[in-house]
Amino acid sequence: MSCVSPHVPDGRQSGCKKLAWFKPSDGARVRVLVWTCDCLAMVYELCQAGGQGFIRRTLQNEDAPEIRETHRWPLGQAREIWATLLTGMAR
Ligand SMILES: [Zn+2]
Repeated sequence: MSCVSPHVPDGRQSGCKKLAWFKPSDGARVRVLVWTCDCLAMVYELCQAGGQGFIRRTLQNEDAPEIRETHRWPLGQAREIWATLLTGMAR
């Protein structure tokens, strides 16, 4: 079995930018654009809501998954932060 989706690297790189994570807001319509592989306990998704983007992370606990979301940014900026996350330079 091989993984198709990217993985977020283990550990923090030096100079890693710390993102702020919040409890998910209301149930506004959200489109998931890309996601990381779910073979790891923590799955990250780049989401779009309206013209804005944000990152959602889900810790796959057996009983209750723990979901957190970042601030919302203009979509282009959200994509940049997503790319940073995938290289281990933001978490
Ligand atoms: Zn994987």
